[in-house]
Amino acid sequence: MELNLEGITLEEQKELERNVFFSTIEQLKAWARSNSIWPLTFGLACCAIEMMGTGGADWDTDRFGVIYRASPRQSDCMIVAGTVTKKMAPLLRRLYDQMAEPKWVIAMGSCATAGGPYVRSYAVVKGVDQIVPVDVYIPGCPPSPPALIYGINKLQEKIRYEAKTGKKVTG
Ligand code: SF4
Repeated sequence: MELNLEGITLEEQKELERNVFFSTIEQLKAWARSNSIWPLTFGLACCAIEMMGTGGADWDTDRFGVIYRASPRQSDCMIVAGTVTKKMAPLLRRLYDQMAEPKWVIAMGSCATAGGPYVRSYAVVKGVDQIVPVDVYIPGCPPSPPALIYGINKLQEKIRYEAKTGKKVTG
């Protein structure tokens, strides 16, 4: 039987390499957080219909650990799905402030990203990043369910990347 320097067989070494890995507690927390994103149930306009469809049985975001919550205090992600009016902006900010840390924001659609078709309106905020910090922007009017899933996947990558490198990635 051939033994290596540590006194174990080659099969045992391969088995060890497959089953033992080293990480940091920060990466472990990020792995858990990125696979259990709980968005606040919160929709502002037509994009919210697509968000609801994405959470339904056809697209099934539960498989990524994305479970919508009815209270900001139980949520760690805000998906801004729709047009943000100036009247709604302070309420949106209040909901964001009530969410637990760490928390993330996805701007879904061109309205949330930059005002969308209402960019010249006196009543619409030209991008929700004027109210809350945005982590991921999803283009489209409205973005399709695959686009929202792609955005969620990008947020998961971002959470894990930041934990691995210690660098903050801006949206
Ligand atoms: S981006 Fe388009 S679909 Fe989404 S809220 Fe604005 S107008 Fe509606």
